[in-house]
Amino acid sequence: MNGLIMDYPLTVPAILKRAAQIYPEKEIVSRLSDGRITRANYGELYERVVRLMNVLRDLGVRPGDRVATCAWNSQRHLELYFAIPCLGAVLHTVNHRLSTDQIEYIVNHAEDHILFLDKSVAGMIAELQPKLPQVQHFVVMEDYSEPPSAYPTPYLDYETLLASASNAENFPDIDERAASGLCYTSGTTGDPKGVLYSHRSMYLHSMGVCLADSIGVSERDTVLPVVPMFHVNAWGLPYACAMTGAKQVLPGRNLLGAPIASLIESERVTLTAGVPTVWKLLHQHLKQHSYDTSSLHTIVVGGSAMPASMIDAYEKDFGIKVLCLWGMTETSPVATISRLRAGMSDLSPSDQLKVRAKQGIPLPGLEIGIRGDGNEVLDWDSEQVGEVVIRGAWITSGYYKDERNLNALTPDGWFKTGDIAKVDRFGYMEITDRKKDVIKSRGEWISSVDMENLIVQHTDVLEACVVGRPDANRDEAPVAFVVLSNERPHEAMIEEIIVLLGTHFASWQLPRRGDFHFVEALPKTSVGKLDKKVLRARLEAGLSE
Ligand code: AMP
Repeated sequence: MNGLIMDYPLTVPAILKRAAQIYPEKEIVSRLSDGRITRANYGELYERVVRLMNVLRDLGVRPGDRVATCAWNSQRHLELYFAIPCLGAVLHTVNHRLSTDQIEYIVNHAEDHILFLDKSVAGMIAELQPKLPQVQHFVVMEDYSEPPSAYPTPYLDYETLLASASNAENFPDIDERAASGLCYTSGTTGDPKGVLYSHRSMYLHSMGVCLADSIGVSERDTVLPVVPMFHVNAWGLPYACAMTGAKQVLPGRNLLGAPIASLIESERVTLTAGVPTVWKLLHQHLKQHSYDTSSLHTIVVGGSAMPASMIDAYEKDFGIKVLCLWGMTETSPVATISRLRAGMSDLSPSDQLKVRAKQGIPLPGLEIGIRGDGNEVLDWDSEQVGEVVIRGAWITSGYYKDERNLNALTPDGWFKTGDIAKVDRFGYMEITDRKKDVIKSRGEWISSVDMENLIVQHTDVLEACVVGRPDANRDEAPVAFVVLSNERPHEAMIEEIIVLLGTHFASWQLPRRGDFHFVEALPKTSVGKLDKKVLRARLEAGLSE
């Protein structure tokens, strides 16, 4: 139709080219595993991506091929984030912290022919090599770790390939609906499931991440993604930063406490992102040591619920705002975010905190809903609790080559998240559990998340995890695993925690005294979330009796 707006393809190369043209001098800082720092800028990144695209072509990569990466957050990984999709191939980030069985399944299921890996994971990949018959080329990236126990054989060296590659620019035309990325769920039960992202979905997701009422990444930011680039595109931050020209600080593999604090100080980081565990440990570290964190305005938290007490502590102790978001592999991942809206500045500080600890409202381009057991639509009244369903421009329509697709969507086409939540009248979602973690007591649900959040409000508690155990009278009863931050007599702790829980839970909902277990640490998944499956197995093995 005459006069209609152009049909301009929304693609990953468009993000890269803009970064190189408009912000060639903006920095990409990468920390190697021995602590050394390397610096490049978007102009140099572009030149290296062009050469990497020619390396990939010479290795036989064709549009649509999946190319795997097993790497931490680094400049070289960022180069792959662009070169692979710019060629029309599919960036397949493999979470190398999964079990070797799962990595084997994922690489074989995706039919990766080329695998790029950090030297620090070379030993693990070398062991797996006989089980990865489809991989024809292993390309090792030097990250200055200790010499590995073994290398895959034969292997190619990343920098050698790049040094001899042509610098001829050859960007193919790409359909915005073509696949650009592939990530498998962290799969705590059953085999991991693959989610394919398109160029268009990645582009729109990046724009969503940059909106002022979303994460709000801007050119003036220096962004430190602690969230790993091997899982759901580091929440889209590498692309969002390039889109806006933000400086990126890529921390390598040392992610707890001191290494993160020192990067924030030395690079004047303004915005960082990761799972709650990282921020709990950083908070402890910052309390005990002196760092200049005055540049840092926002910590973005997702992946699990952030206790309100920790949001409050960062603000009071260091003047840093904590911003909570929710998402999953299937939602690219950023889907909802919790910022106060204009009228909420009148709320009391504690009510404001309650809103900020929720998972929040959907980004433009997405819609959420809650559904009952029979798929009926539930009201947004802060009371009705049901499964979160979602649809939109960066939500998966199913899984890559997977039978389990049949059950992924509701009959009316919304993705079923498996998360249980209620929504308030302003559209703020509050997750109360994963469907499989729900504790059902006397026919009613007890929110394990609410219980955990209350327990960690105790000043001597570092972390808590609540799971259900079968109970003759109550169907299921809650069991609390608690990690203390200070040595305290357990009996006294139990009394004090029960008083805390009593402010929110009815007495029949509380864990019995014998259902408190004080442990040194809690089991975590490969991406740092509480692994409730392991605790339930421990209980089944008789721990509670
Ligand atoms: P993954 O696909 O591995 O990234 O895991 C996604 C799951 O993590 C979601 O379905 C939620 O159960 C959980 N999750 C993510 N963000 C949050 C959050 N802000 N609060 C509570 N749970 C979350």
